[in-house]
Amino acid sequence: QDDLFKNVVSHAKEYGFIFPSSEIYDGLSAVYDYAQNGVELKKNIREYWWKAMVQMHENIVGIDASIFMHPTTWKASGHVDAFSDPLIDNKDSKKRYRADVLIEDYAEKINIKAQKEIEKAKGRFGEVFNEQEFVTTNERVKGYLEQKNAILQRMARSLENDDLADVKALIEELGIACPESGSKNWTEVRQFNLMFATKLGASADTAMDLYLRPETAQGIFVNFLNVQKTGRMKIPFGIAQTGKAFRNEIVARQFIFRMREFEQMEMQFFVKPGEEIKWYEYWKETRLNWHKSLGLGAENYRFHDHEKLAHYANAAADIEFNFPFGFKELEGIHSRTDFDLKAHEEFSGKKLQFFDNDTNSSYVPYVVETSVGLDRMFLAVFSKALQEETLEDGSTRTVLRLPSVLAPTKAAVLPLIKRDGLPEVAKEIIEELKWDFNVSYDEKDAVGRRYRRQDALGTPFCITVDHQTLEDKTVTIRHRDSMQQDRVAITELKNIISNEVAM
Ligand code: ATP
Repeated sequence: QDDLFKNVVSHAKEYGFIFPSSEIYDGLSAVYDYAQNGVELKKNIREYWWKAMVQMHENIVGIDASIFMHPTTWKASGHVDAFSDPLIDNKDSKKRYRADVLIEDYAEKINIKAQKEIEKAKGRFGEVFNEQEFVTTNERVKGYLEQKNAILQRMARSLENDDLADVKALIEELGIACPESGSKNWTEVRQFNLMFATKLGASADTAMDLYLRPETAQGIFVNFLNVQKTGRMKIPFGIAQTGKAFRNEIVARQFIFRMREFEQMEMQFFVKPGEEIKWYEYWKETRLNWHKSLGLGAENYRFHDHEKLAHYANAAADIEFNFPFGFKELEGIHSRTDFDLKAHEEFSGKKLQFFDNDTNSSYVPYVVETSVGLDRMFLAVFSKALQEETLEDGSTRTVLRLPSVLAPTKAAVLPLIKRDGLPEVAKEIIEELKWDFNVSYDEKDAVGRRYRRQDALGTPFCITVDHQTLEDKTVTIRHRDSMQQDRVAITELKNIISNEVAM
């Protein structure tokens, strides 16, 4: 698993998907830049989401709010008081950790033990069924899972009650050691606010404290009535937004899984109070299906229903994805009640209510939110797509099996050799295709090596121009996944590619 993850990181760099930020200065921790191919993949994921959420839903519209917001926004939302992580330092290694993550990792190890037992048993019982062995395995697995759940429940309870001493006690009881040094010499646990602060205005006495938004959601809430009125929206309706968010994450690790500057794709769905659970279930299902539609394998997704609910929610679940380092949160679906709109009413003194023509009365709607990290989505897609294959002749190839709709480049056009007018014909084909698709040209190296390079970039099609092309205006089109090559007329190319890459 570690190797797989290392491959993901190095492939992302080597093939121009993701670079460390300001690398010539040795980078900045947990900050990354999207490179020439990464930016295309990221844009395609964003568009794929936008299309599913906004274009396909008559009652969902988009906005693009600012990153800066009036500072009172963050008082109302609870971020000033309650947006923090429980921190713990190791006294010997001087390393800082999130106490909840240390405990979660410990619990996940127990979980992995249980899964391994199950896998082992499956292999054995297939051959000879031994009832006694079956029973004891079953007991052991049950024991592991109970242990895991008890740990997570106790942590959730302590955090909810702000009982940081008990979080520390739990770490000590479990004997959790510092991952770096193995030391168990821990400090107290304390809360650390995750918002980045900055100042607006030049003079020291008039300058105003601002925050970089830690989520895009609040830009939607404060615009709720503006959109509802100007768009003549009727409840239920949604507002969608994609954009940057910033969090001063303590343990920023695992590549683009947890960054300090990242992008969210969020949708707030405004519903009648009392109908929120129905819509919450609807969006859980709809969002899971959206993920599955990418074809990365249904077994890589699971729901995690929250037992510990944030102060604003009455139901919450994550869609977890099987990342190279295990199942982790990819998207959150939250039933946020009227917490946010009520809080903004209170702090702003302005009404944020929907006037219901049918009943002739006003109310503050409830909200169901879907929130997915664009960068996490990128990592999910990229890490599952990256595969090493052994071919029939025993050689291996690296292939990035990206869903074609998301691939940065849809087709590469390759002249078989660099002379005899083949490059010119290849460039003519590019001139035709580039109006509809991102296409690229490559004439360097033998054609086999060029195919492999496009495989590693995730390009679904390679179009090769050879001498026969000059005679009959046909080319070969090679499919990334099957490596099958077909001879087709140049005039057919647009259709063939469209059929496969259309969103
Ligand atoms: P986590 O528990 O992993 O910190 P969260 O529960 O705080 O995440 P939310 O506040 O629900 O996350 O944010 C919604 C989504 O935004 C998450 O599901 C995740 O995909 C993404 N996200 C949150 N924090 C980060 C981050 N630091 N880097 C990248 N993506 C993030």
